Amino acid sequence: MNGNQNKATQPIVLLPDNYSRLIGRDAQRTNIMAARIVAETVRTTLGPKGMDKMLVDSLGDITVTNDGVTILEEMEIQHPAAKMMVEIAKTQEEEVGDGTTTAVVIAGELLKQANELLDQEIHPTILAKGYRLASEKAEATLKKMAIKVDDKKREYMLKVAKTAMTGKSAEVARDKLAQLLVDAIIQISDKNEVDLNNVKIEKRTGGGIDDTVLIHGIVIDKERVHSEMPSKMGNAKILLLDAALEVKETETDAQIRITSPDQLQAFLEQEEKTLNDMVNKIEKSGANVVFCQKGIDDFVQHLLAKKGIYAVRRVKKSDMEKLAKATGGKISNSLKSIDNVDIGFAGKVYEKKFGDNALTFVTDCKNPKAVTLLVRGSTEHILDEIERAIEDALGDLGSVIRNGTIVPGGGAPEIEVAKELEEFSQGMAGREQLAVKAFAKSMEIIPRTLAENAGLDPIDMIVELKASHESGNKHHGVDVFKGTIVDMLKQGVIEPLEVKTQAIKSASETAILILRIDDVIAASGKEMQNPQMPPMGDY
Ligand code: ADP
Ligand code: MG
Repeated sequence: MNGNQNKATQPIVLLPDNYSRLIGRDAQRTNIMAARIVAETVRTTLGPKGMDKMLVDSLGDITVTNDGVTILEEMEIQHPAAKMMVEIAKTQEEEVGDGTTTAVVIAGELLKQANELLDQEIHPTILAKGYRLASEKAEATLKKMAIKVDDKKREYMLKVAKTAMTGKSAEVARDKLAQLLVDAIIQISDKNEVDLNNVKIEKRTGGGIDDTVLIHGIVIDKERVHSEMPSKMGNAKILLLDAALEVKETETDAQIRITSPDQLQAFLEQEEKTLNDMVNKIEKSGANVVFCQKGIDDFVQHLLAKKGIYAVRRVKKSDMEKLAKATGGKISNSLKSIDNVDIGFAGKVYEKKFGDNALTFVTDCKNPKAVTLLVRGSTEHILDEIERAIEDALGDLGSVIRNGTIVPGGGAPEIEVAKELEEFSQGMAGREQLAVKAFAKSMEIIPRTLAENAGLDPIDMIVELKASHESGNKHHGVDVFKGTIVDMLKQGVIEPLEVKTQAIKSASETAILILRIDDVIAASGKEMQNPQMPPMGDY
């Protein structure tokens, strides 16, 4: 060694000491590994035979779930590339509400296949281009195989809801829940438009899932304010008020100087009169039920009770909005301006006890544009997991309403896409062809995983499935219960087109994003090296 060499290798310092950096293939390898671990983690939950995970947070709270996005959110993942995978699930959840595991698993496989091509010195930009082309082609293929629901909307929607709940804890009451969910969605939708926020989910332990009911109106987690008020009201005329039924306290610290007992008396009388006026105004409006977003003074409560008016106070803003949609009333922000058009209607308003507290039911509304599912289950954990399954199914149903198209499930669309991509790649030249083929291969991960999770031989299943699609059976997929390849459409295993399209699209976009990174510069404390598998047992 001589001094010259030492000089030549003298490092040039670009970053502060506490920064770390990964460059080139190292960066890719680490990112891909981290992303794949995320995909592997949720993969075992995919499909009707998927297993659940138990997550325990730092406070010891337990979540038992099979829902992709819930698992990933609870895991508090640190690695930056792994976080990007979590984003896929979140996007999927926001955009369509179901298919979160599918999206993450596909992204993981796209990266796995890409990694092999990177090993063969294929440049990431070529991979990115090939994947982009393949993703567009996949979307077109899905569109081509999709079926319009048209006049069979309800029938298909029932099947979509059942498919979403198969294998989840909601399954025991799948048929009944599917009916309720479809009724709920149809009730709140307006032609092709639907806002899922208008299906309120209220959970109560006790009873079983079978006791779940759909309320044509809103259930509020509040009791009436005064025990002398009527506990039920037929033909309810409902006032929705976003103003306090109290004497206003001034914002500033004003003081009133009272110098004689007469003055005090007059002051109190004035206050009483103001409150009395409020109640008279309410009575005059014809309302016999009041939902108040703010507080109600004790004296007003007493007066309302005397007049036989049912009142609830401090109702959440979101509930007020739902009440307006369900009852056809308008939210007034002052008592001054109320007239008939503002008053909502419900066939019945009543209070019902559940355990320690009571709920207020606003039911039998006329053509309500917001409804409530009162979900029952034996424990909190079960209720939470049922709610997640219901939300997935609602997301799917919303998509069918908006988009009006469905595809068969059970891996059928993925294998059809794989087949079409394989054909498409034949006409391509050079290295991009390899990327498209890798994309095609990645699609197989869905039917393969469905089979694996069901304890079936994945190789046999894929071979048979591919052969079936080669001979033109577009709708064939894996029957995970019988271990055979069948027509999924006939089997009633159906998903919205949008769920598949979105899953493949966001999986491919994220895979491309991760592949194009060749330099990771991170401040210290940010974990980016050596992603590790979450600790697992020996089974
Ligand atoms: P995701 O979070 O992706 O929705 P799921 O655990 O809900 O994950 O599984 C969805 C997958 O399970 C889809 O590919 C769907 O087609 C498939 N699937 C649902 N029901 C059946 C069934 N009865 N037979 C075969 N596959 C099914
Ligand atoms: Mg699902």
